[in-house]
Amino acid sequence: MLCEECGEKEAEKDVLLDGNSVSMCSRCASISSGVVVDKPTQDQVDDSKRMWRVKEILARSAGIPYTEKPVNLPNTLRTVSLEDLRRVDRDKKSAYQVRAESRMKRYSEESEKKNSADNIIEEAKTFKEEVD
Ligand SMILES: [Zn+2]
Repeated sequence: MLCEECGEKEAEKDVLLDGNSVSMCSRCASISSGVVVDKPTQDQVDDSKRMWRVKEILARSAGIPYTEKPVNLPNTLRTVSLEDLRRVDRDKKSAYQVRAESRMKRYSEESEKKNSADNIIEEAKTFKEEVD
């Protein structure tokens, strides 16, 4: 079938023009003021026939690629076992312990520094007294 616009080339596209579908060659279609209707691909046809997940629709409308992966529910929505609670408690306790130990270490280092500073001051005083 030839292009309805120029009548020279092979018609490849359907163009909606003033409410009518006109078959045009790709050159005429690109310069026409109508809307070029592309035939859907097989994937698009298949997509239109299947059920869509809400997440999928939202992702698509937001322009985000949708990938199906296991959902990581927050702890509150998962069943929490007593062992889970005990483990959390243990983890917290050990975290506190580590923090307390490092604080103690820092404190002892600081007091050591202070002691040596005090010693230097004391030595300086003694030295000054000796000189005087
Ligand atoms: Zn044409």
